[in-house]
Amino acid sequence: MKRIEEITRIKKDQRLAVFFMLVLIMGMGILMLGPEDSKFNASCARCYFCVDRCPAEAINLDGHGYPIINKSKCLAWNEKKNEFMWDKCGLCLRGCPTKVIALVNDPEEREIKTVN
Ligand code: SF4
Ligand code: SF4
Repeated sequence: MKRIEEITRIKKDQRLAVFFMLVLIMGMGILMLGPEDSKFNASCARCYFCVDRCPAEAINLDGHGYPIINKSKCLAWNEKKNEFMWDKCGLCLRGCPTKVIALVNDPEEREIKTVN
């Protein structure tokens, strides 16, 4: 009887070990995918104030839950000047706790954080 209990305990320990290994591997995978690989992502708190506040529904989320601005819907996007004119709307920027949205006027960040 004692032997059966011991085997049961060992099997339970093995299942727990496998579970923690899987969690560890998934965590490392997420880190290697690099969701923080832009200045924008490194500063965004993913609070979604901007998504809720946007009157034009111009902000979606990428696969990691970071905002992406759809320029064709955004009221502040100026195609001729090739930049966001925040005074034309800017509700998302004004409420953003880190003001990270302003970064999308940097062409490199805009490349990653906007769509047409
Ligand atoms: S400036 Fe911000 S809140 Fe205003 S339309 Fe564009 S994305 Fe939406
Ligand atoms: S309001 Fe700012 S910090 Fe919050 S999700 Fe939007 S961009 Fe990120």
